[in-house]
Amino acid sequence: MQMPVAHALQPFGETIFAEMSRLAIEHSAINLGQGFPNFDGPSFIKDAAIAALRDGKNQYARSFGIPELNEAIADDHQQRFGRQIDPTMNVTVTSGCTEAIAATMFGLLNPGDEIILFEPFYDSYRACVAMAGAKARFVTMNGPSFRFERAALEAAVTPTTRAILINTPHNPTGRVFDRDELQVIADVCIKHDLIAIVDEVYEHLVFDGEHLSLATWPGMAERTMLMSSLGKTFSLTGWKIGWAIAPSELTQAIRAAHQFLTFSTATPLQHGAVAAIRAPASYFESYASAYRERRDVLVDGLRSVGFGVEAPAGTYFVMADISPFGADDDRAFCRHLIEHVGVAGIPPSVFYAESDEGTRYLRFAFCKDIETLRRALDRMHERLR
Ligand code: GLN
Repeated sequence: MQMPVAHALQPFGETIFAEMSRLAIEHSAINLGQGFPNFDGPSFIKDAAIAALRDGKNQYARSFGIPELNEAIADDHQQRFGRQIDPTMNVTVTSGCTEAIAATMFGLLNPGDEIILFEPFYDSYRACVAMAGAKARFVTMNGPSFRFERAALEAAVTPTTRAILINTPHNPTGRVFDRDELQVIADVCIKHDLIAIVDEVYEHLVFDGEHLSLATWPGMAERTMLMSSLGKTFSLTGWKIGWAIAPSELTQAIRAAHQFLTFSTATPLQHGAVAAIRAPASYFESYASAYRERRDVLVDGLRSVGFGVEAPAGTYFVMADISPFGADDDRAFCRHLIEHVGVAGIPPSVFYAESDEGTRYLRFAFCKDIETLRRALDRMHERLR
């Protein structure tokens, strides 16, 4: 039989997260690779899902979300950003933000259309662009600041560009795009009539600065699709509940694809999600402060082991420069770390299409309890230096 995988997907292989998690298990390494918490999500959310499950809320949900969840998402957005959102016309519940992104690309892009991605990029973006038959253009954010240049963004626009995909707070760099950067993106979108697709799944994980919403920029509401999810904010990455907030014409595009991708998302978990999104402000405050502590433990520890590290302003990831160890091959370094040190990370070169800068970094995740972070650091202290 010929290679059965479709041509569009052949370049991507297995996702790096699955590959590194598998190696971590094989070698009993502490897994600071794939970004999943090693602690559970809150009981009040799980209880709401359990109650729904017991109460017979187990059949297909409305394709674009149970009404209570669409309303909770709209209310939350209005409270935080002061924008009126219609829960029926503007909100679509999806199976994780990953599905929201796929549905957006499949619903919006025609073969040959171009979309601009910032690199390093989250791995699914490029694969979805390929599956849509579209073409990605890249704007590199160079370390250690990982800011992008206006000229590079302008140069990436062509007559066939349809959209720019932005991820802020940004995985893997931990950058939180500031007002100036969002202004540049808004200028370019408006000038060239482009759609902004914004992945904000780490919106509640900001330690320095603040999360700004591109949809609040003048002229941007009508061309911005915001996407987020439950997984990171509520430590429930296995629930796969996400959503998109978009003007009604763009919502039609997402839903056109969503109805045929998954049709709808797990009903009892959507009821749990209502409780999550309506959580009191104190939940979000203690969530962020617990992560600040984890960040500081990991950043200080990695520095003392000898990595070059800038504290990330957001997300639960840190990019650690491996060049102080004389290393310039992230994959080889990562393998060594898993096999001989007992700690797994993610080699970020897979998040780049053009620049080879990724080879000098490893990404570590700090969505782990402090004790686990300390054990990983102890292993590095003993076996790496
Ligand atoms: N978002 C997670 C990360 O960046 C990975 C999710 C996945 O495995 N697809 O680590």
